[in-house]
Amino acid sequence: MAIDSVAQVEKILQDFWACAPGNSLQLPTGEKAWGAPRVAVARGDDPLFLRNKELIGSFLWTPAEAYALAFPDTPTPDGGELRVISYLLPQTPKTLADQRLATTMPAERWARSRYHGEAFNCEMRLHLAAALTRAGHPSVAPERLADYDYRRSPRFGLACNWSERHAAFVAGHGTFGLSDALITRWGQAVRLGSVVSRMDLPVTKRVYGEDHQAWCLWHAKGTCGACARRCPVGAISTRAGHDKQVCFKYIRDVTAPYATGTFGTGATPCGLCQVNIPCEGRVPKGLH
Ligand code: SF4
Ligand code: SF4
Repeated sequence: MAIDSVAQVEKILQDFWACAPGNSLQLPTGEKAWGAPRVAVARGDDPLFLRNKELIGSFLWTPAEAYALAFPDTPTPDGGELRVISYLLPQTPKTLADQRLATTMPAERWARSRYHGEAFNCEMRLHLAAALTRAGHPSVAPERLADYDYRRSPRFGLACNWSERHAAFVAGHGTFGLSDALITRWGQAVRLGSVVSRMDLPVTKRVYGEDHQAWCLWHAKGTCGACARRCPVGAISTRAGHDKQVCFKYIRDVTAPYATGTFGTGATPCGLCQVNIPCEGRVPKGLH
């Protein structure tokens, strides 16, 4: 059956979120890794995708380029025939509560959501792409493509050739904060995923227009800076924003080995700057 409403897409994600065994922190309590998914949709030819490519680097895929990599034997559709379905998975209340108490190392639930939860997120990307394809809408999860990788942006340093955060921004989920994280209606303590699909789906209204920093108190009003105070190594400052190198080094050298040794998880957890802040679970008051 063809899919032509956002509610149908949401139902695919909700059902998977509710039933898939992978949505688990792998704790004896059996609790889920994430809160319920939320969806936003952009047109594949939204001019902001090209603008992001110009800003970040020519390596950044447009939706049409990601689609062409997945379907090399069929003519690439015009971007206007494509939709970018961006979804977010909020951290659970228990994970947030634990992480708020952490000051130098990620809490166990946070480390588990980064590891087991992101593994589930990868399943969710593929599940959505497969379900839409089966329904007659060829679809791809760009982050799951074999060519997905890190590149070096002339302006921003290390960057991937598909950015879940930038796709979410274009789709209307939210805007960037001082810490570089995306501030969404459900805050910045979320995990993102996306799928590019050949389908006609109503797009989400981007209430902040093209202002990519509209929902951050520092950028909008020159106040706050709470995320900077939460970082134990000074990787965020109101003067220079997010220092990716300092952040990366702390995670690689300290928090990742700690989580592996203490909780038996992998990946690269930290996220201390994503909680105990005005934009943890919502858009700060007065900005939306
Ligand atoms: S904590 Fe404050 S300064 Fe940091 S991203 Fe959120 S609103 Fe912006
Ligand atoms: S994720 Fe990076 S910026 Fe945030 S608290 Fe950890 S080291 Fe600091």
